Amino acid sequence: MGEIAGFKQFDREVAPYRPLEERLADWRDVAEPMPDDRVQVQGARCMDCAVPFCHWGCPLGNIIPDWNDMVYRGRWRDAIETLHATNNFPEFTGRICPAPCEESCVLNIDERPVAIRQIELNIIEHAFAEGWITPRIAPEPTGKKVAVVGSGPAGLACAQQLARAGHDVTVFERDEVIGGLLSIGIPDFKMEKHVVQRRLDQMAAEGVIFKTGVHIGIDVSLDELRHLFDAVCLAGGARQARDLLIPGRELSGIHFAMDYLAQQNRRVGERGIVGEEITARGKRVVVIGGGDTGSDCVGTANRQGAAEVIQIELLPRPALSRSEEMAWPHWPMVMRTSSSHEEGCERHWSLATKRFTGSEGRVEKLHMVRLDWSEPDEQGRRVMTEVKGSEFTVDADLVLLAMGFVHPEHGGMLEQLGVELDERGNVRASKTYATNIPGVFAAGDMRRGQSLVVWAILEGREAAHHIDTHLMGNSDLPLRDQ
Ligand SMILES: Cc1cc2nc3c(=O)[nH]c(=O)nc-3n(C[C@H](O)[C@H](O)[C@H](O)COP(=O)(O)OP(=O)(O)OC[C@H]3O[C@@H](n4cnc5c(N)ncnc54)[C@H](O)[C@@H]3O)c2cc1C
Repeated sequence: MGEIAGFKQFDREVAPYRPLEERLADWRDVAEPMPDDRVQVQGARCMDCAVPFCHWGCPLGNIIPDWNDMVYRGRWRDAIETLHATNNFPEFTGRICPAPCEESCVLNIDERPVAIRQIELNIIEHAFAEGWITPRIAPEPTGKKVAVVGSGPAGLACAQQLARAGHDVTVFERDEVIGGLLSIGIPDFKMEKHVVQRRLDQMAAEGVIFKTGVHIGIDVSLDELRHLFDAVCLAGGARQARDLLIPGRELSGIHFAMDYLAQQNRRVGERGIVGEEITARGKRVVVIGGGDTGSDCVGTANRQGAAEVIQIELLPRPALSRSEEMAWPHWPMVMRTSSSHEEGCERHWSLATKRFTGSEGRVEKLHMVRLDWSEPDEQGRRVMTEVKGSEFTVDADLVLLAMGFVHPEHGGMLEQLGVELDERGNVRASKTYATNIPGVFAAGDMRRGQSLVVWAILEGREAAHHIDTHLMGNSDLPLRDQ
């Protein structure tokens, strides 16, 4: 445990953001690094509660109180060993996880939780700086071959675990870069891409083979893959974007958020853009959708030099703090303001877009109406009604649709082999992550629907355990609740 009553002695502190003008002028991480000695003080705030709710709140089951204490005592090497025991990629979650662990930290009852995510980030960065992150090569090869389709955090976690169990693992990625949404969706100002690359280097040295530009279901059929490999893990994400099929949708200047963000990631990565150029430079931008993807569009548009950025959301404005319905230690649906919002953005809630209009084929206006939301019923459902006479228009030169993703893309490999889907359109898999096709498993957003990096890593790890068991009869790879 840190220090008795350390939480009374020391205040919560996390890395500050770089000054606004400076960060808007580049694509680098918005956050400054935080010196280790200041982070050690944060470790002292952990109370080592009898029931560590942070551990319960973390999907990966990170053993947080232990590494908080190790950091406080300067036992950085022990800390990274403990952290890596449950999380393959703390450098990703330490940067971009919304940190459900902090929401369930006991200190968060008064909203000053231990700075768990910051401590996690310093542990892994300290370990990289010390040269402790070296390949962990399996002692003995098993001679079994596994194909992983998709190189997002789920596919990467699955591949790393299986390679460390001695299997011959090949990751197939249709894109030209490895990393899934970490590389092609999430902007550099949230996570710079060298952070992904150094982990890929470790995995390559551990024997994982990466094949880019291979679209399974088009270049190679899933059936062929099944015959070439002893097991297959489908980790293709959930990339079918939710559309807004209203009059005027066909006008130019209206794009899916992912097309926009992926293009900017290509620019930053100096890979050259493909297709129509989408830029916010000098434009009035409206982002439809109030989540993470929408926020990333706001940050990107401001860096590109947008004239103004407005973000609108159908749902009502969230509460500023927890209510009884979302009591601690559960994840609360409260108002969140990202670094991108701080950089300049008008935010509006309870608005529906009825149609787009424009001239010469280009969008110029959104026609909006205000919504009234009923109080939630016993199941938490609210009903919306349009407020009579509240119609108005908003001018826009660029509209970005960031309304989430409905499910994985259904054509191609899933259709070819008749992979069964669940009622939400995601790949149906059993508790052992097995699909209805023998030897084919599924993990990450492709199985659970649009989610978070931390869940994708967990799913990849758990699927790896079950694939290993399928191939070898048993497995030493850990499960979360063993
Ligand atoms: C813009 C944006 C911002 C986000 N921000 C955050 C955040 O801040 N924090 C957070 O925790 N989560 C965030 N998320 C969610 C998070 O990125 C995802 O939950 C996570 O990446 C899912 O991982 P995955 O491995 O399941 O799938 P993905 O990361 O989607 O990777 C799937 C990969 O499979 C490839 N693929 C698909 N089909 C095939 C095929 N047939 N053949 C070969 N390759 C294929 C795809 O090209 C892709 O590279 C964000 C998502 C978006 C879109």
